[in-house]
Parts: sequence; C-alpha cells; structure tokens
Amino acid sequence: MSLVPCRGCGYQVDTSALACPKCGATDPAKKMCRQHRQAISLSLQLLVGVVLLLAVGRYVWVEFMPLIKTAVAKQHQG
Ligand SMILES: [Zn+2]
Repeated sequence: MSLVPCRGCGYQVDTSALACPKCGATDPAKKMCRQHRQAISLSLQLLVGVVLLLAVGRYVWVEFMPLIKTAVAKQHQG
C-alpha cells in the first residue's frame, strides 16, 4: 500500500484506489502508468522506425548508387 498523486488533481490516493476521493477520477494511480507505458512504446516505435529508415536508406544507397553512377557515366560517354 502506497500513496501516489492523483492524475486529475494531485491529491494523494492509494495505488489500489478505484477512484479519487477528491475529484472522482477513475484509476487515479493507474493512468499515469499507462501514459508512461504509451510514451515508452511510442518512443520505441519511433526508434524502430528510424532504424528501419536508416537501414532501408543505406540498402538503397548501396544497391542503387553503382547503377546511378554507371548510368551517369554512360550518359557522359554517349
Ligand atoms: Zn483527484
């Protein structure tokens, strides 16, 4: 049993409380955990997205740069 600030009003409520006795917010202690978890999962998704983008970008760069260079060289020759 521990007290945490209510997500609605900041009143100290028990972590097992179903509703805040002061403002009546439901799950006054749990909401913050869920928001925190959402923030973590969001930043994880963002990280995965950035890594994927970098990997794909690098792959495209490595795969297509020689082709582009060859095409440009051919154009200069022709
Ligand atoms: Zn409250």
